[in-house]
Amino acid sequence: MSRNDQLFERASRTIPGGVNSPVRAFRSVGGTPRFIQRAHGPYVWDADDTRYIDYVGSWGPAILGHAHPEIVRVVQEAAVHGLSFGAPTEGEIEIAEVIAARLPSIEKVRLVSSGTEATMSAIRLARGHTGRNKIIKFEGCYHGHADSLLVKAGSGMLTFGNPTSSGVPEEFIRHTLVLNYNDLASVEAAFATHGDDIACIIVEPIAGNMNLVKPAAGFLEGLRTLCTRHGALLIFDEVMTGFRVGPQGVQGLTGITPDLTTLAKVIGGGMPVGAFGGRADIMDNVAPLGGVYQAGTLSGNPVAVAAGLATLELLAKPGFYEFLSRQSATLANGLTERARAAGVSFCADHVGGMFGLYFRDAVPTTLDEAADSDIETFKRFFHAMLDKGVYLAPSAFEAGFVSAAHDDAVIQETLDAAEQVFAQLK
Ligand code: PLP
Repeated sequence: MSRNDQLFERASRTIPGGVNSPVRAFRSVGGTPRFIQRAHGPYVWDADDTRYIDYVGSWGPAILGHAHPEIVRVVQEAAVHGLSFGAPTEGEIEIAEVIAARLPSIEKVRLVSSGTEATMSAIRLARGHTGRNKIIKFEGCYHGHADSLLVKAGSGMLTFGNPTSSGVPEEFIRHTLVLNYNDLASVEAAFATHGDDIACIIVEPIAGNMNLVKPAAGFLEGLRTLCTRHGALLIFDEVMTGFRVGPQGVQGLTGITPDLTTLAKVIGGGMPVGAFGGRADIMDNVAPLGGVYQAGTLSGNPVAVAAGLATLELLAKPGFYEFLSRQSATLANGLTERARAAGVSFCADHVGGMFGLYFRDAVPTTLDEAADSDIETFKRFFHAMLDKGVYLAPSAFEAGFVSAAHDDAVIQETLDAAEQVFAQLK
């Protein structure tokens, strides 16, 4: 029995499903999850000391590669001075200033400890600010595990075919209007019927939780126009895309200004940091200034903030995103070429340091299309790549991530492995 198998058996005795977040369990692809003992640069090593090229990147945060020396240094330095104070620190001001300076839509920002807290708080704020109840979300988008957002959600919910969680009261579900991504007509219809009671639209402006699905031309612009017209707030959930697809996230790529933005993942550099921010007149509704309550014992944790600040500094180096985009493009295009050469129905897409792999002929633009890919072939691909030392997300519905440590040699090694795997798949 491998050490991974032993650990999984042991974990399953005291942890539900043996994991602390569902997709980690490999349930949809089968087999034993790899227990990671260490990571460096583009690599992770499992409990059996097998090395993998890692395209999960902790599900997004590891944009600099694992255990980047500068991030490790600032974390160690911060830890020596105390792990948590529950009182304000100068580091919190600095990271808030950096976020506000980089994202023009953010005038004020509040730090939290996860993406879920960020989206949950942004929704409460939108409801408090507008005095309305209903929210619009899109099927296949995942915004964390707050009750009102676990309706027809993506990520693990989609992976396990159970997109609406049990335990969410019917009353909550009634206030969540779930529409189709990239279907502006359905949003117009929802506003026509419920316009006076819609507090906000929350959207992944590039979706990464139903595989990678980009917004159709005019979709985000249309959401902006409708929100403005009907007095609802537009929330860009950039937990995944923020500082990942480019220096200003999707708002920078598209020039569309949301009222509120949620962030996490990259801004913590691998430590638990989330944030929600936006226009000052909206943000000033948050306690202690306003009546929308939001709080956190570990919010703005000094060690986490140090990691986040150092990460944001390194991302500002000239050429950073050009390199990341080039590596993603080489990977996505190289995989597509090799699959086609082997006669496998496959395509790939990419943006900044994010990519999508689809076992179908055309890049999907809707959830239905993303779901209509050859999942069985994906599973065989996933396991064959794993056997060759490449660790991809264990689900056909998750985007992949490239880091600054994925140099040309690492990408080439991945493509060489894929060439052999595609040849076996046909
Ligand atoms: N929003 C998006 C777009 C996400 O991708 C995620 C997590 O993957 C979340 C929110 C929730 O973040 P967290 O897992 O940090 O709670």
